Amino acid sequence: MLRFEEALTRILALGTPVLPAERVAIEELDGRVLAEDLVARADLPGFDYSAMDGYAVRTRDLAGEPPLRLPVRGESRTGAVPDALEASSAMRIFTGGALPAGADAVVMQENVTRDGDVAVLTARPRPGQNVRRRGDDLAAGAIAIARGTRLRPAHLALAAALDDADVPVSRRPEVAILATGDELRRPGTDAVPGTIPESNTVVLRAMARRAGARARALPFVRDERAATERAFAAALAEADVVVTVGGVSVGDHDLVRPALEAVGVTLDFWRVAMKPGKPLAVGRFARSDRRDAIVLGLPGNPASAAVTFALFGVPLLRAMQGDLRPFPARRRARMTRAHAHDPGRLELARATVTYGEDAQLGVTTLGNQASGAVTTMAQSDALVLIPAESTGVPAGAEVDVLLLGDLSG
Ligand code: AMP
Ligand code: MG
Repeated sequence: MLRFEEALTRILALGTPVLPAERVAIEELDGRVLAEDLVARADLPGFDYSAMDGYAVRTRDLAGEPPLRLPVRGESRTGAVPDALEASSAMRIFTGGALPAGADAVVMQENVTRDGDVAVLTARPRPGQNVRRRGDDLAAGAIAIARGTRLRPAHLALAAALDDADVPVSRRPEVAILATGDELRRPGTDAVPGTIPESNTVVLRAMARRAGARARALPFVRDERAATERAFAAALAEADVVVTVGGVSVGDHDLVRPALEAVGVTLDFWRVAMKPGKPLAVGRFARSDRRDAIVLGLPGNPASAAVTFALFGVPLLRAMQGDLRPFPARRRARMTRAHAHDPGRLELARATVTYGEDAQLGVTTLGNQASGAVTTMAQSDALVLIPAESTGVPAGAEVDVLLLGDLSG
């Protein structure tokens, strides 16, 4: 059996070559991965401006002790370029207004009283006070956002502030999801005895989308060899990643492996030493016109499908987009209750998270860890990593956790 870390390394290697870049408008960038360093073409901010409503002054005009009296000449407001500051005068200025040439400080209006046309300053300003200097935030030529960054809302603001209307990001991977099984029917349709509502494709599709992919679910595939091969061949011709779910173990009706091999997929079948999610089929399908398609054959049990896709599928999709941190950071947390574990496989125990009074993360593993449970992924916030060799974790022990939110939900 493969260790989890080894399986993850191998999966991430399938992320290269990275998908080609395309320019995308800033409004649509959330979650996309930057394909080239974003370099500031100009200083940010682009000119000196006032951080306050008040009066722009030249500090060396101000001799003697406060109160200091200066005649008010002119005004600087946002959106306009002011005249230069006249010698020994103050200029009315508003937040965001350009600092007039000759001025070196802004006195906030709370520290000024007006005596007709004269501003009376109750305190002496320091040079540079209340002024935001050109280039303070970022100098022209500096890297604003590094290649391989998965863009969050704040990055969109930075690109906009740098005057970039669009930026190069890797194209979205195209993902096709195929559920297999004679028992499956669409949720909300006739409950024929022996059938179950199909519940894996919706979760996988939503996770894939959050990982930046364009994902669609194809019609369910019956446990019948010829139909399975036809469906796989069609999906492999189109998608960058084909995700199958169910039928991947060793039962008589588990046709996924032979069918993938029959249509030309070079398959690595792995038994990964993890729980849930032991059987996993991973493969490549060579195409003359494009990057190889990648195949992920996931187990059908709902918790196994969701956990294996979160841990392998999501990082793969991120890596294909050039994300330099495709796998989330582990966090430390304290167990609020004991958790039993038989040595052998890494357990990814579904758990809820709490923040204690000491601001430490607490985790409580759920009672039902069955791979067939559909409830528990929805009830959990995190997966606790219980090492393969562990003989059980006592209450109060520190453990590593992965937050499901970091794994795209
Ligand atoms: P399999 O991996 O095909 O052996 O299926 C394992 C278990 O998961 C069986 O109980 C299946 O009925 C169930 N299962 C498989 N695929 C799905 C699916 N797409 N939605 C809900 N349950 C499924
Ligand atoms: Mg099945």
